Amino acid sequence: MAVSRLLIDPSTQTRLGAEVLAELRANLWPVDCQTCGRPFGRWEKPALAVQEVANIADVSLHHRGCRKPRWLEYSPATEAEFSAFPHVTWRANPFLLRITNALVVLINPYLEYASLRRDDARWRVATLDRFAAVGMGTDRFDAVIARPALSLVVDEDRVSAHITDGAGKAHGWHFPISPPAREVLDAKEWHTIGVTTALDLRKRLRKNPLRALIAARQVLLGAARRTYTERAQLLGDSDFDRKSRIELIGLISEMIRRTLGIQVGRDQLAAAVACSMGDSGMLLRLSGRDKLASALVVAQLYATRSRTSAGEPGHGGGVHVMAPDPAIVDECFDMCTAVSEISGLTVARLAVEPTVEQRSTEYLADIVIGMPEQFRAAYAFYRDGEDDWGLHETRGRLAMAIGAEARHRAGDVIRRYPKVTVV
Ligand SMILES: [Zn+2]
Repeated sequence: MAVSRLLIDPSTQTRLGAEVLAELRANLWPVDCQTCGRPFGRWEKPALAVQEVANIADVSLHHRGCRKPRWLEYSPATEAEFSAFPHVTWRANPFLLRITNALVVLINPYLEYASLRRDDARWRVATLDRFAAVGMGTDRFDAVIARPALSLVVDEDRVSAHITDGAGKAHGWHFPISPPAREVLDAKEWHTIGVTTALDLRKRLRKNPLRALIAARQVLLGAARRTYTERAQLLGDSDFDRKSRIELIGLISEMIRRTLGIQVGRDQLAAAVACSMGDSGMLLRLSGRDKLASALVVAQLYATRSRTSAGEPGHGGGVHVMAPDPAIVDECFDMCTAVSEISGLTVARLAVEPTVEQRSTEYLADIVIGMPEQFRAAYAFYRDGEDDWGLHETRGRLAMAIGAEARHRAGDVIRRYPKVTVV
């Protein structure tokens, strides 16, 4: 429940009027007292405290014993009682839209706090102004408009929504995420962030609140780019269950033996298994064809997840192999193509100057091989191209850089892959 009962002093009543007070009641949630940080009792009426400095005011909720309801005015030269609200409660809550399967992260940044602004002698609730200032908007189309100030950062199992406001101050809210929502988060690069103070958000959302929030102009929306921290991008135990990992690696090694005549030896197998679980140290120490064969096992392993159950290329599938020079690109391509005769995976080599036709197919392969610069150019093309390249843009799940130099040359583009390995 929003706070329906408040202790409000007569001066505040007169200054704000019934309309603004009603809006405050609908946008304040009594969780913790902003003086002592302890929770409000269930039936307790919180005291509304306002501090005003030059046409801007902070509103906060307190125990009546901690602070009396009042309106205090400060001159800009004197220091206000509160300069920050360290006890303020926030909540971020991700949910999936049922029809489009889009991920929306709703944030209530301030449950017990609101800000007011005086324009033309009238006060209005202005808590979300700082988010409007970074370009977030109230229209439903704003949900898909990319805002550079917004991002979703995946750090292992933890996901945070970040908003950098006009003053360069970064706000961050982290939240747990369910496996289906995580799948969507990994598969697409852009997701919607919504900021509202009209919902409590401490509980899981049962139904989609967006339509009502948009209609009431109670939410600000924008699209955020999803990025990964390096820690999140390590290959890991949980990518495959133990049994399938070992079985698939055995199977792929056998395919390599039959098609390339290369016996994947003990060391190479051990290197491939370790790499598939996040430790590429052994693989890095191998060289030449031994190394490529071992890396190929890992690439083929992750490429097995490239297709949807209907056999179509899926968002967030596929392996992008970034090789340092054309000779290694060719060698990788030849080896992968040979193995794919049995594995059935599709393999593509990025063209130096691709035609539009080549663009439309090359990223859809299960394994794509090229130099880092080519991946950068291809990604920029998909991002800025006029056609709908959404599937292409989000294809790569694993970026495999052959050598630290290739990783370095890939630069920032690598931050969009859920998984990265340097071998
Ligand atoms: Zn208190």
